[in-house]
Amino acid sequence: MEATETKSAKEVVQAAWKKRPLIISGPCSAETEEQVLETAGRLAKTGKVDMIRAGIWKPRTRPGSFEGIGTKGLAWMQQARKQTGLPITVEVATGKQVEDALHFDVDVLWIGARTTVNPFSVQEVADALRGVDVPVLIKNPINPDLELWTGAVERVAKAGIKQIGLIHRGFSSYGNTEYRNAPMWHLAIEMKRRSPELMMINDPSHISGRRDILLDVAQKAIDLDFDGLIIESHIDPDKAWSDAKQQITPERLAELLDTIKWRHETTTEKDFITALEKLREQINHIDDELIQLLSQRMKIADKIGTYKKDNNITILQTNRWNAILEKAFAKGEKLGLSKEFITKYYDAVHMESINHQNKIMNA
Ligand code: PEP
Ligand code: MN
Repeated sequence: MEATETKSAKEVVQAAWKKRPLIISGPCSAETEEQVLETAGRLAKTGKVDMIRAGIWKPRTRPGSFEGIGTKGLAWMQQARKQTGLPITVEVATGKQVEDALHFDVDVLWIGARTTVNPFSVQEVADALRGVDVPVLIKNPINPDLELWTGAVERVAKAGIKQIGLIHRGFSSYGNTEYRNAPMWHLAIEMKRRSPELMMINDPSHISGRRDILLDVAQKAIDLDFDGLIIESHIDPDKAWSDAKQQITPERLAELLDTIKWRHETTTEKDFITALEKLREQINHIDDELIQLLSQRMKIADKIGTYKKDNNITILQTNRWNAILEKAFAKGEKLGLSKEFITKYYDAVHMESINHQNKIMNA
C-alpha cells in the first residue's frame, strides 16, 4: 500500500519536472501555516501552477531581517502538498537543511544564489545528497561567473543527482539599476549553450525586485526559449515578511500567465519553416562575410604593427580611437544600431587589433 503511494507521488514529481513550460510559484518565505496553506490552495485553484515553492531558511543580506521560519515550516509545506497534490520545493544551503527537507518529503530542492557562489557550501549540500534520488534546481551565483554556476552543477552531479535544472535569477551589482538583479541574458544563453541537456527556468521575481516589470522579464525569458518560470506569490503581498515589493497574489499570477505570449521553439507549419530557413540562410551568409572582413581588418592591423615597430610608435593612440568611436556612434544611430552595441563591438575589435599588433611588435 505504502509503496504504491510513494510511487504515485514520485510520478507526479516526474511529470511536473518534464512539463513545459514548468511553472513554480509560492511565497518568498513560509510565514504562518495559514499563509502557506492558503497560498498553495489559491495557486492550485488557478490550475496553472505545477509546483509550490517557499523559503524555509532565508539567507538574508543583512542581519535583523526575517531569517526564515525554520523546520516547522516544512510540516506546513508537507500539508500544502497533501491538500493540493502539487509537488513542493524549498531552498537548502547546508547538509542539515537537506536532511530536514528530505525528512519532510520535499520533492525538489533548490540551491540559492548566495550558496552557489560558495563551493564549500555547495559541496556540503552535494555530500548530503549522496545516495538520494531527488531533483535539484541550481540558481546562478549572485556574481556573473559561469564557472561557479557550472562548478555547482558538477558538484551536485558528482554526488549522483541525475535530475538537475538551472534557475536564472539575475546578477547583483552596486548601485540602483532598473533591475534588482541585472538579467545579463547573454550569460543565461551561454549557460544553455554549454549545458543544453539541463532545463533552465527563469526567476522574474528576483530579477525585477518589483511587480511592474515581472511580465516583461517573463516574456523575454519565454521568447528566449526558457523551459519555465518561478515566480513568487503571496496572499497579501504588501505584508510579506520578505521580498514584499516583488510578490503578487495567486490570482494576479494567473492573469500574468494568461498575458504571456507562449512561443514554441519549433513548428510543423511548412511555410513558416521555409521562410525561416531562407532568413537564416541570409544571416549565415552575412555572418560568414563578417568573419572574412574581420580577418582582413586584422591583417591590415598586422601591417600597421610592423610599421609602428619600425618607427617605434606606441600601439594605442587615444585621440584616433575616440574619433573612430564618435563617427561609429553617429553612423550606428542612423542605421539602427545602439550605442551600447557599437561600444561592445568596437571594444572587442579594438582589443583583437591590439593583440595582433602586440604580437608583431614584441616578436
Ligand atoms: C528566493 O528564491 O527567495 C531567494 C532567496 O532567491 P535567490 O537565491 O535568487 O536570492
Ligand atoms: Mn525571495
